Amino acid sequence: MASVVTIPAFGDNFIYLYRYDKNNALAVDPCDSSAVLNSLNEHNLNLTTIFITHHHWDHTGGVSELKKKTGCEVIGPDKRRIPAIDRVVDEQILKIDNIEIHVIATPGHTNTSVCYYIPESNKNEHKILWTGDTLFTGGCGRLLECKARTMFDSLLTLASLPDDTLVYCGHDYTLENYEFALTIEPDNKAVGQRLQEIKQIIRAGGFTVPSTILQEKTTNIFLRSHTNEIKTALKMPNAGTVDVFAELRRRKDVF
Ligand SMILES: [Zn+2]
Repeated sequence: MASVVTIPAFGDNFIYLYRYDKNNALAVDPCDSSAVLNSLNEHNLNLTTIFITHHHWDHTGGVSELKKKTGCEVIGPDKRRIPAIDRVVDEQILKIDNIEIHVIATPGHTNTSVCYYIPESNKNEHKILWTGDTLFTGGCGRLLECKARTMFDSLLTLASLPDDTLVYCGHDYTLENYEFALTIEPDNKAVGQRLQEIKQIIRAGGFTVPSTILQEKTTNIFLRSHTNEIKTALKMPNAGTVDVFAELRRRKDVF
């Protein structure tokens, strides 16, 4: 049965191994080659493929070394800014040893960011989504190269995936995301409860991933930009949803 190994790196990054059969795994955003090599060793796995969500060094730092050491194939969206890529992808469906992987174009954080989605199959019992720096547990990435509308459309695309999809994001900003959300909506019970859950997970030494699409739709403040509650809280009762989203993102930038 397929499984995901979460590897923390650089303080707040998450690298993932997806073990898709007894001996083989793919990696997502392996910023730190030694952390990945140690984990492969520990689980007795070969690395066949690397998937990259976007070009930032804290997602790609270990790619060249891993490629050299393992001979794996490197898949990603931006050959110009990630020279180690062997196969350039955009919106498309790939197969790695019978595993179907959907590449979803999600510009916003960068203009070439992508996410990777694995639907349910007989090999993996869960639907899985890797979101890089587009959608975080309780938050979203900064708008570095795109307008708010572009990022919001990308977030809506991800939110349209099935509710029970497991969401694995690129950074652990979870605690501050929910603390930020409560400054906007101090009386939101679902958000307050989620913050308590997150604190418990952290106290127990666990990871704040995966979340689910349903959890994000319910408690991620950025995905609630269309609601009257948020518009009222921001004193923007007549504003359009994208303007509300942009205002939330601006406030989070300085939180
Ligand atoms: Zn980034």
